[in-house]
Amino acid sequence: MKQTILDMNIDNKRVFVRVDFNVPMKDGVITDDTRIRGALETIQYLVDHNAKVILASHFGRPKGERKADMTLAPCAEHLSKLLNKPVAFVDDCIGDTVTAAVEKLQGGDILMLENLRYHNEETKNDPDFAKALASLAEVAINDAFGVSHRNAASVVGIADYIPMGAGFLLKKEIEALGAAVNHPKKPVAAIIGGAKVTDKISVISNLLPKVDVMIIGGGMANAFIKAQGCNIGSSLFEPGQEQIATDLVMEARVAGTRLLTPIDAVVADAFSNDANTKIVDVEHIEDGWMVLDIGPKTRELYIDALAKMKTIIWNGPMGVFEMDSFAAGTNAVAEAVANADAMTIVGGGDSVAAIEKSGLADKISHISTGGGASLEFLEGKILPGIAALTEA
Ligand code: AMP
Repeated sequence: MKQTILDMNIDNKRVFVRVDFNVPMKDGVITDDTRIRGALETIQYLVDHNAKVILASHFGRPKGERKADMTLAPCAEHLSKLLNKPVAFVDDCIGDTVTAAVEKLQGGDILMLENLRYHNEETKNDPDFAKALASLAEVAINDAFGVSHRNAASVVGIADYIPMGAGFLLKKEIEALGAAVNHPKKPVAAIIGGAKVTDKISVISNLLPKVDVMIIGGGMANAFIKAQGCNIGSSLFEPGQEQIATDLVMEARVAGTRLLTPIDAVVADAFSNDANTKIVDVEHIEDGWMVLDIGPKTRELYIDALAKMKTIIWNGPMGVFEMDSFAAGTNAVAEAVANADAMTIVGGGDSVAAIEKSGLADKISHISTGGGASLEFLEGKILPGIAALTEA
């Protein structure tokens, strides 16, 4: 068992908290503060325990340089408003000015450090840099699930020097994803969509033996349609994907898992919202047309399968949902997941965006905050940021 914030002695201690404040921002204004709100529970808990809270995050990809548009100062300011409490800010994350700012902290105070990635050593998990971060505090908390698949100094290396436990947000992610993958209430369905089957092959392979139904959508479904001997016209497809699909069909057979792939599709004569479109069975896709969404029969098939499930894991859209003409499949799945009487887990930026757009987010049991990290978790990989947590 890994330590969580609840196991740690943090009262009156200097606590380094790795958060993920890599929020969308336009002209210095935060356009979506979900990630900052996600860390509030941990921060408030530490404040209530009189800890000296030192917050650290990355922002964007400054690649070791100080970039004015990647400062975390607006996040500190925003956090201060959310907590209705001062949040001090220091313009670096290691060094003398930082040490001096940390020394000034009283119990219950909060200090936000500048962008960790202004130092290249962060992403390289440099031991000296990790040690310098660790020297600021007595205890570390990881509450940044979104970067826990990265081997970074503030996520992994720091735990070589001071004990590190999971914050409330990370704890929730581990519990929800872990339960869905390892001991779910049955029957279980996974819905995997997105552009390319090569990106999702490990997820499908890992989940196939664990689920009762595997539902495939998005551009990657084209590989399965082609593997059945159907023409896919000018649909998104890369050579080699057909064999991957054939192998996965075999794996599903061996596992005794029902594998559902599209039976009809919305096809278009161009990759455009204004293209001419029609609905065809997958056996009747003509040259010059491309599949951009699942069709109405497929929607019904998927909705029907999902209605009987007790656990549903969803990652990846069913079509090019960014264009309204090809969003019906993804929206139908979003609704079916939200309305299912089941434990529902949604991960991946696009599926989360689709759920949020549909206004159904509060009907989902767990919306993962980490796209890449949740995918790697579903692949069965051990995330370095979780492996690094101190044993309880
Ligand atoms: P991913 O990042 O792999 O989850 O893929 C998400 C992207 O896949 C979205 O931007 C979708 O527009 C795209 N996508 C979904 N279905 C299709 C399709 N049939 N053809 C092309 N792109 C698609």
